[in-house]
Formats: sequence, C-alpha cells, structure tokens
Amino acid sequence: MLRVGAVVIGAGHSGLAVSRHLAERGVDHVLLERSEVASSWRSQRWDSLRLLTPNWLSRLPGYAYRGDDPDGYMSAPQVAAFIEDYAKESAAPVRANTTVTAVRRVDDGYVVETDQEAWRAATVVVAAGGASVPTVPELRAGLPPGIEQRAPGGSTPDLPGYRNPDDLPQGGVLVVGPSASGIQIAQEVHASGRPVTLAVGEHVRMPRTYRDRDVLWWMDATGLFEDRYDEIPDLLRARVLPSMQLIGSPERATLDLNTLSAAGIRLVGRLAGVHDGVAQLSGSLRNVCTLADLKVKRLLKGFDEWAATAGAEQTAGLPPGEPVAPTVVPAAPLELDLGSGEIRTVIWATGLQPDFGFLGELPVFDHKGRVRHDGGVVPGSPGLYVIGLPFLRRRKSTLIDGAGADADDLVTHLVGHLG
Ligand SMILES: Cc1cc2nc3c(=O)[nH]c(=O)nc-3n(C[C@H](O)[C@H](O)[C@H](O)COP(=O)(O)OP(=O)(O)OC[C@H]3O[C@@H](n4cnc5c(N)ncnc54)[C@H](O)[C@@H]3O)c2cc1C
Repeated sequence: MLRVGAVVIGAGHSGLAVSRHLAERGVDHVLLERSEVASSWRSQRWDSLRLLTPNWLSRLPGYAYRGDDPDGYMSAPQVAAFIEDYAKESAAPVRANTTVTAVRRVDDGYVVETDQEAWRAATVVVAAGGASVPTVPELRAGLPPGIEQRAPGGSTPDLPGYRNPDDLPQGGVLVVGPSASGIQIAQEVHASGRPVTLAVGEHVRMPRTYRDRDVLWWMDATGLFEDRYDEIPDLLRARVLPSMQLIGSPERATLDLNTLSAAGIRLVGRLAGVHDGVAQLSGSLRNVCTLADLKVKRLLKGFDEWAATAGAEQTAGLPPGEPVAPTVVPAAPLELDLGSGEIRTVIWATGLQPDFGFLGELPVFDHKGRVRHDGGVVPGSPGLYVIGLPFLRRRKSTLIDGAGADADDLVTHLVGHLG
C-alpha cells in the first residue's frame, strides 16, 4: 500500500487548486483521477457550451487567464486546455486513469481503494465534482414510451447526455428548466428548426451587461461573490438556488425569457406531473417571472448604491443604469399531451449533482444522500474534506474563480489536522 499525507480525489480545477496549496505548504500528496485532467470539460459538456463567466474571472491560485480576450467567454475545449496548462505549470502529482472505488476509515486516517493500487493517507480531499450526474424529477417515469430524452452536462446509463440538435429526432422538443443550460439549449434547438417549449420554474434572471460592464464584474466588484456560508441568513436555500440565467457569447448578448419568447419559443409553467401521458404544467408562470423581475431589479439597485459610494478609480466612466424590461408572460396551457406526437424529445435541464458513491462506507450522508459538511469540513470524519459544492464556503464556490479561496481555507484546516 502506498502512503501519502493527503489524497485528493479528482483532477479538475478544484483538485488542482487544493494540490497547489498543499504543495506550497509542503504536504506530500497525490491526485487520483479516473480519466485525465479536466475531463469533465471534455466529456460532459455539450458542443456549443461557453463559460458564462468572462475570461478574466478564471483565476486560480498562482494562475489566471493570459489570452488576448479577457472579456470573452471560453469554449469547453479552451477551458480544458486552460486547466491542463495549470496542472502542468503546477507540476501537480496526478495519477490519471485511476478510479477511486472506496474510502475506508482506519485508525487515524483513511484507506483509499482504487482500480489500481490502494493508498493510505491521514487526510482525503474529495474534489470529484459537484455537478456530475443529472438531477431529474421522479415524474420522468410517467413519460410515454418513444419520447427521446437527454440531459445536459451529465448522463446516466438510461439518460444520454445532450450534445447538439443534430443528435435529436425531428419534431417538437420540451426543455425542462429555464436556467443557464436550459435557455442556451432551448435557443439552439429552436434555431435548428424544431419547435421548442420551455417549462419555466423558479429562475435567477440576469442581464449580460449593466452600465456597460459585465454583470459578473458587478458581482465581483461589490463583493457579492465573497458572501460567506457562515454569515448569510439562509444557507440551505442558497445552496439549492438555480444557476444564473446567463450565457457567454461573443456578442455579450442577454438571453432571457423575453428574447426566447420573441424568437418563437413557447413558454409554459413548471412541469408539475405527468399523468396518462399528459404533462401537467403549473399555473405559477406569471408568479415566478414576477419574482425573478423583482429580484433582478433589487440586484441592480444594489449595484447602483455601491457605485454611488465606491471610489472613482472603480466607477470612472460608468454610464447611468438602464432599466430591465419586465418579462412578458404569455397565456400558457396547463396541459401538454405528450402522446400526441407533438413532443418528440424531452431535455432535462433540471440540474446536476455529485456522484460520491465511493464514500458509501463512511457515515457522511444526510437523509437526502448529500454529504454533510461544515464549509467543506466533514463532521465525524476527521481529516476528510470536500470541495466544489454550491456555496461551500462562498457564493462563488462552484465557479473556477471560487476554488482558490476555498482550497486555501481547507488546506489550512488540513495542515492543522496533520500538525
Ligand atoms: C454545464 C456547466 C457549465 C458551467 N459553467 C461555468 C462557468 O461558466 N464558469 C465557472 O467558473 N464555472 C462553471 N461551471 C462550474 C464548474 O466550473 C464546473 O462544474 C467544474 O467542472 C467543477 O470543477 P471541479 O474540479 O470541482 O469538478 P470536475 O471538473 O467535475 O472534476 C472532478 C474530477 O474528478 C474526477 N473523478 C470523479 N469521480 C472520481 C473517482 N471515483 N475517482 C477518480 N476521479 C474521479 C472526474 O473524472 C473529474 O475529472 C459550470 C458547470 C457546468 C456543469
């Protein structure tokens, strides 16, 4: 059995950020990666995906975007190359093609079983991805046979990942979920000539730019991304909030429900059930849109208030704020007959979750199957950490830009534990 101070599971950007901090503090460690560095960006994303964060916001410990388009948005292959360069520059000790199959507690540490050799370590950091497999509602079971199904960003044995519209049969498409992935995919599938219906539940509306700056510049400058897990009022809710309704495009275009509706995409309420092949759609469409409109107005007002008091070096040349048009809510049906042949494909843009089955022997899961943790420190399992989950320690925890600070905090704790 091989021995090391820390085993890091996963060589995405989170694992690499942890590795960088471990190296700086002299902790001998290894990164075990079932595939290759940044594999999620090669295998799990759809073809047209671009980051919704601008390039300058891809900052990792000791490393940042160095290209000539800081305000642009990287494609998935570009992100993979960016992370691979980071791994090389950090000389990260990655063991590729090594799948962790189980983590067991022994004495004062852990045994990490893999499909290669086993490792013994006093500490383990799980950086295996917070968004690996689709979260799909149980009502999926009621879909009539013959309807194709896809999920963006992940797949399971009976639910293939979404790649591009050419992969879908001709005919109507129901996209379930109006967040970043749902709106992008609704737009590109509609552009392929297929009629698209978008089922809209709670969402977080965002303009791409505000007062001539990327809206994420505002999130960064005002400190909103730094909000801490142990200071915000409702952490549980913050951890399950939908992703920002935002896309990265060379035109820096805003894509929202008004744009989609104007292009001819049919908006309907949240998919609430499927009975006898008929989809039941919630009557809450107007309410969820009104709520998203109110929230985005409040967000932009907060930006204006910050700009009024911030230093001139940050706010020089900012034009005045522009209003956000309210969402135009169409009259929407409350039912959709899925057996009529009108809908040939359902795309589940309903979110992603981790796959931490290899921790199954440890008492770390809550009743919903989520790893219990306090800012990434797993209670009851000394020396076990997790990173890359929503609002782990900060609002930006799941972003590339959020990994550095979280990794720093966790490695500080880990070094204390080893010490
Ligand atoms: C569709 C989508 C769009 C996103 N867009 C943005 C964006 O615009 N900007 C942004 O900053 N962030 C974005 N994110 C969030 C975030 O950057 C990604 O989720 C990122 O991939 C998370 O990095 P990670 O290192 O935590 O996990 P991952 O990239 O998932 O890396 C985890 C690694 O662990 C490995 N692994 C898993 N299980 C095992 C095992 N048992 N044994 C060994 N290895 C294992 C995997 O192979 C993988 O390489 C997006 C995420 C998604 C899903």
